[in-house]
Amino acid sequence: MTPFKWAVVFVLSLSFTVFVTFFGRLPALRRTPIAGLHRLMWIHTPNAALALDSRLTAGRLSRSLSRFGDYIMHDRHPTVVVFFLAILTVAEYMYLPEAWPRLGWFTKLTAGLAVMMPYLFLYLACTSDPGYITPENHAYHMSLYPYDHTLFHPGNECRSCRFLKPARSKHCSICKRCIAKADHHCVFINSCVGYGNHHWFLLLLSSTAVLTTYGGLLGVSLLSSMMTERHPDWSLWKPEDMTFNRYMAVWGWGVQQNVRMGATTLLSLLTTPLVCGLLAYTLYLVYAGTTTNESLKWSVYKEDMGDGYAFRRRLPPSRQKNSRTEPPCRRWPVEPEHVLVATSDGKPPAENARLAGDGEWERVWSLKHVENLYDLGFWDNLVDTFVPDYRFGDRSDDPPSERTQRTKEPARWSGFPP
Ligand SMILES: [Zn+2]
Ligand SMILES: [Zn+2]
Repeated sequence: MTPFKWAVVFVLSLSFTVFVTFFGRLPALRRTPIAGLHRLMWIHTPNAALALDSRLTAGRLSRSLSRFGDYIMHDRHPTVVVFFLAILTVAEYMYLPEAWPRLGWFTKLTAGLAVMMPYLFLYLACTSDPGYITPENHAYHMSLYPYDHTLFHPGNECRSCRFLKPARSKHCSICKRCIAKADHHCVFINSCVGYGNHHWFLLLLSSTAVLTTYGGLLGVSLLSSMMTERHPDWSLWKPEDMTFNRYMAVWGWGVQQNVRMGATTLLSLLTTPLVCGLLAYTLYLVYAGTTTNESLKWSVYKEDMGDGYAFRRRLPPSRQKNSRTEPPCRRWPVEPEHVLVATSDGKPPAENARLAGDGEWERVWSLKHVENLYDLGFWDNLVDTFVPDYRFGDRSDDPPSERTQRTKEPARWSGFPP
């Protein structure tokens, strides 16, 4: 095979493997060959290898591999960051020397910016503090968000860090710290995504989406203009009187002349849907006023509600708060109106000094009847992501129905990060 064909085979199989790895667990694809391939790749093949190893080496090889796997999965290390940087840099090294001489000054300027931005935002996302909670800044993080008495109840302590967990925080077993407004631990930046770097993570995803889209479209436009120069009867949209074989033969000729740029253009076009999908998912979470961590909690509630295991009762606005476990939050404009809990036996919760609120418990059957305290609307959610410690205007005078009634479904895709 020619080098170009090898490159195409490599790029296609790489993209397909990534696709199966990321999307194979999607509930929507459960009964398709994609899910079968995912099982084959991540369950059956490793199991077969383990069985073979226990016969051949009495399991020595798999024990050392599992130590390595433990390190890869449960410790901080920059392997994926290095892999990401390598793909980015090698692709640009292959693409730019062939493309650059054919670009006008304006395209050179925008292409230069598109190339630089992912490096800048990757650096900022990796190196900035994601919102580590320490004994010194604990009081500050306690005052950032109110407890919603739904996903986050006051008075819970982190057993590792030994302080009260602030609302929206989560202990990360890889970073070994509590993270404020924890989203998820991201191997692409070798750090958590949280209150301190969520905006850099969003900008990294956006700039990578711009780069792959721009690189793919620019590559197609450069290749097709060269091909029409040499073969004037050819055009990007196949002319009606041209046979398909001839149309593809001209493509083959064009790409043979620019093997490196052709392969990278193909890689850009194939990775664009993946990057744009992740960006859309992240923006959707901002729109819904939630995080990856919280959307998992919402989907558990959704199932409990379907089973009739979720209950709520009123939380009077005039209630007395314990200022140690529930310090005042001056920047958030809304207060919770209900306590929501799920029980394991389907009966209303027993009277318990730790659960706030008063009155009768009522069953909640659907997320539609629950408000998300952390959803202020897309723009305010975006402001909260980008401006640290922003003080939102007081909305406690608005009627409750116009406040944060939960009309958006929480994100149901629990397959990311895999
Ligand atoms: Zn912790
Ligand atoms: Zn982490």
